[in-house]
Amino acid sequence: MSPEEFRRHGHELIDRIADYRAGIAQRPVMAQVAPGSIKAALPGQAPAQPEPFENILRDLDALILPGLSHFNHPAFFGFFPANSELSSVLGDYLSTGLGALGLSWQAAPALTELEEVVVDWMRQLVGLPDTFRGVIQDTASTSSLVALICAREQASGFSQGGGGLAASLPLVVYGSAEAHSSIDKAALLAGFGRDNLRHVETDAAYAIRPEALEAAIRADLAAGRRPAALVASVGTTGVTAIDPIRPLADIARAHGLWLHVDAAMAGSAMILPECRALWDGIEGADSLVFNPHKWLGVAFDCSLYYVRDPQHLQRVMGANPSYLRGAGEGEVTTYRDWGIPLGRRFRALKLWCLLRAEGVEALQARLRRDIANARWLAQQVSRTPGWRVLAPVPLQTLCIRHEPPGLSGEALDRHTLEWAGRINASGRAYVTPALLDGRWMVRVSIGALPTERADVEALWALARREAER
Ligand code: PLP
Repeated sequence: MSPEEFRRHGHELIDRIADYRAGIAQRPVMAQVAPGSIKAALPGQAPAQPEPFENILRDLDALILPGLSHFNHPAFFGFFPANSELSSVLGDYLSTGLGALGLSWQAAPALTELEEVVVDWMRQLVGLPDTFRGVIQDTASTSSLVALICAREQASGFSQGGGGLAASLPLVVYGSAEAHSSIDKAALLAGFGRDNLRHVETDAAYAIRPEALEAAIRADLAAGRRPAALVASVGTTGVTAIDPIRPLADIARAHGLWLHVDAAMAGSAMILPECRALWDGIEGADSLVFNPHKWLGVAFDCSLYYVRDPQHLQRVMGANPSYLRGAGEGEVTTYRDWGIPLGRRFRALKLWCLLRAEGVEALQARLRRDIANARWLAQQVSRTPGWRVLAPVPLQTLCIRHEPPGLSGEALDRHTLEWAGRINASGRAYVTPALLDGRWMVRVSIGALPTERADVEALWALARREAER
């Protein structure tokens, strides 16, 4: 494609996306397609000859758009707000269009240095100490894997430089049963083994009980195992449980554990000073992840990973083959040594575009709007006979259930899944059923970009109609 053809089709494509966003409320929120139908409508082989770009746009309308659930829809209350502010989308286009590749500082000096700047802007915005340094990873899953590999190397006295894990005592990782599945996955991929993974007991608000952690550590020590890492969650996926960072950091320090904090979703809320009490004690963490590609509005993917000791991170992740050496090494940040991939996208652009084009105050106002909407809905639900809010609502996610008299156990589960299923199938809103204490409930995650109070009111009316009918 020549630059002139790109200019023509690119303008068309931007128009399509702008129209899509402007008219998104008219679409059913959840994709209304049968499994396999999209694949069946596509050819099994790539075309041997070039096709006009118009054909691709035609298939986009006919096949691709109907095959999406729309996260940026005002009635999207599923999973978490995966907001893509259009200002950030432009930054993502820029990244792809410039084709810069961050193999080293010299390969794209602006890629490295803009990343340093925006990561530090974000550090200040969420109130982290200036001793923390950060890097952009693709996802929280990757960030947590990096964290647990660093924890393993700390606890094993840098075993990767010698006999590896096999040469050390069994190393143990602690986290809550409510932690995201990426934590278990990271612990397994980092080689700790399922036998050495502890799900620590939680309290009535689903947060880790520090006394239970202390007891688990003592039991492992007594059995000759070496406690290595603690993963605390600020905002678990299911119920937004907040593990108490300060007492957990004290325990981690006392026993020499690496403390990693997973604030994938809730970290964005820390741009609001009034929310920072939720991670009181965060300066005691060794590493921390949060995803501006969740609620904050950066187009997926953009995960911020901060550490207290960048030297340790680089020692564990570093590689320095001759063909990657270049000018400036030693004086500049070499981000390939701050994570797993060698080649790095210019992700800083989409965070930079978001922060500059929206301004921090507008981002704060949007998050405050969502928190107020969640509080409003929590009030409605708790005031209505037969309905229950099942967990505290510290931010923008509610866990609710309709519990009609006489229904319990599996019958109640069936009822919950049915009314949630009817909402999703209607295309008029999208919610996520999930298990809590072994029983189905409905998660309502508020915070898509265009979601206003009227949309939350409409969801509540729809939920009552579908559940109470
Ligand atoms: N941690 C928490 C608390 C999450 O809610 C999620 C995703 O929802 C993740 C980790 C995984 O995020 P990612 O998709 O960036 O790996």
